[in-house]
Amino acid sequence: MASKITMGTDGKLQVPDFPTIPFIEGDGIGPDIWKASVRVFDAAIQKAYGGSKKIEWMKVLAGEEAFNKTGEWMPEATMNAFKEYLLSIKGPLTTPVGGGIRSLNVALRQELDLYVCLRPVKYFEGTPSPMWQPEKVNMVIFRENTEDIYAGIEFMTGTPEAKKLLNFLVDELKVKAFRFPETTSLGVKPVSKDGSERLIRSAIEHAIEHKLPSVTIVHKGNIMKYTEGAFKNWGYELAEREFGGQVYTWQQWEKTKKQDGEAVANEEMKISAIGGKVIIKDAIADNFLQQALLAPQDYSVIATLNLNGDYISDALAAQVGGIGIAPGANINYLTGHAVFEATHGTAPRFANTNTMNPSSVILSGVMMLEYMGWRDAADLITNAVGKTIRNKTVTIDFYNLMKEATLLKTSEFGDEIIRNL
Ligand code: NAD
Repeated sequence: MASKITMGTDGKLQVPDFPTIPFIEGDGIGPDIWKASVRVFDAAIQKAYGGSKKIEWMKVLAGEEAFNKTGEWMPEATMNAFKEYLLSIKGPLTTPVGGGIRSLNVALRQELDLYVCLRPVKYFEGTPSPMWQPEKVNMVIFRENTEDIYAGIEFMTGTPEAKKLLNFLVDELKVKAFRFPETTSLGVKPVSKDGSERLIRSAIEHAIEHKLPSVTIVHKGNIMKYTEGAFKNWGYELAEREFGGQVYTWQQWEKTKKQDGEAVANEEMKISAIGGKVIIKDAIADNFLQQALLAPQDYSVIATLNLNGDYISDALAAQVGGIGIAPGANINYLTGHAVFEATHGTAPRFANTNTMNPSSVILSGVMMLEYMGWRDAADLITNAVGKTIRNKTVTIDFYNLMKEATLLKTSEFGDEIIRNL
């Protein structure tokens, strides 16, 4: 009998054997890739649990389909279902052009306070990649999702608001930095201690739970000292205060190294040297983007602010095969709310062609199954996706970049994964 996933009083998700999970098919290529994906999920769950577990899918409307049927882009019933059932999964949605809602995804994130944008970046052998050794890339990005310049506090030059704010800064706070005050637009970058701590705490907890070697706080604190720099400092303080016995911060490491009098060359040696604790370190964002190409093996969990996280997520996704295969989730670990989603858009030119890669939604489903604790089904799918790509039976995006591959439709790619489960 179907029932709801709930959050237990112990802060752990309570997942029944037959949970109801709302889904949004999405616009453009959404229906094609959702149809292939849901068959993979059901087949893997059946194979892993032989009928003792099953997801009851509940279709909800958003985007163009919702607008055509109800006159609303994000009907209240959909938002309520997302709130009530905690977990949901969605395909890409068209961003309405013109007035009204800025973006349906942003609306969802704000309404459910989904403060972590989680993006695992893992290489599947055989995937076309611009990297020399893409198999060295294996990271999980925790991007802060509710603050930073994404808060949308911006004022266009020439408006009374921009003038008022500018005058306040010049007259009251004695800011002298405006080179062209008459034509300056202004934006505000809010970064709070509470917001930073909940994000970094989730990243460290993830690293400990999954026995990962390090958490790197990526920031631009050398320039933005009280926002990005504070994010870094709050992160280190939190790590030592709340996770003392389980982590090892970079500052502590530097001290040990001096005492030991020897430089330990690589990450693995550092870890064994400190007894399996999670290393907490930091990197300035520009340097991190360089290091992610030159020495990706040195990075595991990344904790970063909203804008850095946006750039880093797409840059790293490109290293391991691009947006056709990049999964994502937006999560509030405190309430349990989580929306799993393809990270690409609706690719409207390819709508209803049954040609696009469904891996992004399929791997978002893997993240959802892991979050639910249905690890066996998740692993079956991950392995089957890996085998399908290794066999070079792929959709057009990979086919165009591979030698001697077999071209499959979206639905056929789904069939092939099911065969390989
Ligand atoms: P897009 O991601 O839809 O497409 C860009 C290109 O990427 C496509 O032309 C295609 O070549 C490739 N691509 C995308 N998905 C693919 C897949 N599954 N397999 C293979 N190739 C794939 O980006 P866009 O054209 O900038 O945006 C189109 C619409 O999607 C806009 O309305 C935008 O606002 C919206 N959008 C939605 C989301 C979301 O819902 N999460 C995210 C980004 C963009």
